[in-house]
Amino acid sequence: MNPELPGGVTLADVWQARRRIRGQADNTPLRYSPYLSQRYRARVWLKLENLQPTGAFKLRGASNMIAALLEQYGPQRLQSGVITASTGNHGRAVAWAARELGIPATVCLSSLVPANKVAAIEALGAEVCRCGDSQDEAFETVHERVQSRGQVAIPPFDHPLIIAGQGTLALEILEARPQLDMVLAGLSGGGLLGGIGLVMKQLSPRTEVVGVSLSAGAAMWHSLQAGKPVSVAETPSLADSLGGGIGLDNRHTLALVRATMDSHYQVPEAAIARAMVTLLEQEKMLLEGAAAVGLAAIEHHRIPIAGKEVALVLSGNNVALETFDRARQEQAQDADL
Ligand SMILES: *Cc1c(COP(=O)(O)O)cnc(C)c1O
Repeated sequence: MNPELPGGVTLADVWQARRRIRGQADNTPLRYSPYLSQRYRARVWLKLENLQPTGAFKLRGASNMIAALLEQYGPQRLQSGVITASTGNHGRAVAWAARELGIPATVCLSSLVPANKVAAIEALGAEVCRCGDSQDEAFETVHERVQSRGQVAIPPFDHPLIIAGQGTLALEILEARPQLDMVLAGLSGGGLLGGIGLVMKQLSPRTEVVGVSLSAGAAMWHSLQAGKPVSVAETPSLADSLGGGIGLDNRHTLALVRATMDSHYQVPEAAIARAMVTLLEQEKMLLEGAAAVGLAAIEHHRIPIAGKEVALVLSGNNVALETFDRARQEQAQDADL
C-alpha cells in the first residue's frame, strides 16, 4: 500500500467506483491473443474496452462521477443536469451515463462540429447547445452555464472521480491475470493511465505501467519534461482521441502519471496505421487509432516482451470508415517502401 501517491485518488475510491458503475459500464472481456502471443513469444491479452456500450472506456469515469454526484447531492440539486463540451468518446459517455441515471445532459458544440456528430449526440438523449465557432467558445459556454444555471461540468480526465472510474479496468485485468508483467495504454489527458498506474502501483508493483503518446502534439509528454502543464499545437492524427491538452490548470493527472508510469513511448502515424490494420486482420476488430498505440509501441520500439505476460488496453472503437481507409493506405505505402 502506498497512500502517498499524488492526484487525490485512493485505491478505496477505485473500489467504490467499481460498486457505483456496476450495471452502467461493463466488466469487459480480457481476451487471449494467440496471434500476438506467438509473434512476440509472449502471452498477450487484449482488454476489450471497445465493447463498452458507448465503444470506449470513458463510460467508466463518466458513470462514476455522475452516480457519485447523485449520491452526494440527490436528484433535486442535479435537476439542471450535467454538461460537457467533448464531441468524442467522453461526450458520448456523459450523454449515455446521464440518460441511464435519469439526469439531463447538455453537450456544447461549436458550429464546426459536423451534422452527423450532432445527430449522434442527440440520439443519445443529450440536449445539444450550438454555441460559438470554436471548441474554446464551446468550453466557455460550459463555464457560463455552470455559473448561471447550476449545471455540473463533467471533466474528461482531470478529476478524482474520473480517474477512479477509469482505474476500475485495471482491477479487472489484475483479477484475471494476477501475474501480469506489463500493461500498455494510450496516454492523452492521463485519466486512463493515471487510474491504471494507481491500481498497479498499489496492488501489483511488479507490473510495468507503459504509457503511449503521439509523436506530434503530445501535451503530456512535454508537460512531464517541463515539470509543469504546457500546451502544444495540435496536429491531426489517426489517433484523434489522444489529441488535446492536459489543461494548464491540471491538478491531478500530471502528478499521478509522473508518479506511477514506468515507461513512456511516442508512436508515429505509420506505426499506428500498421497496428490498426493488424488488429483488424488478425483479431477481426475495428478499432480507433488510440486503441492501437500499445501494439504500435511494441512493434515500433521493439519493446522486449518475450516470455512476459502483457495486457494491451484496446480503449475504443470510435473510428470513421474513411479514417480507417486512410490507415490502410498509409500502411500499404509503408509496406511498399
Ligand atoms: C480518451 C481516450 C484515451 C486517452 O485517455 P486519457 O484519460 O485522456 O489519457 C485513449 N483512448 C481512447 C479511445 C480515448 O477515448
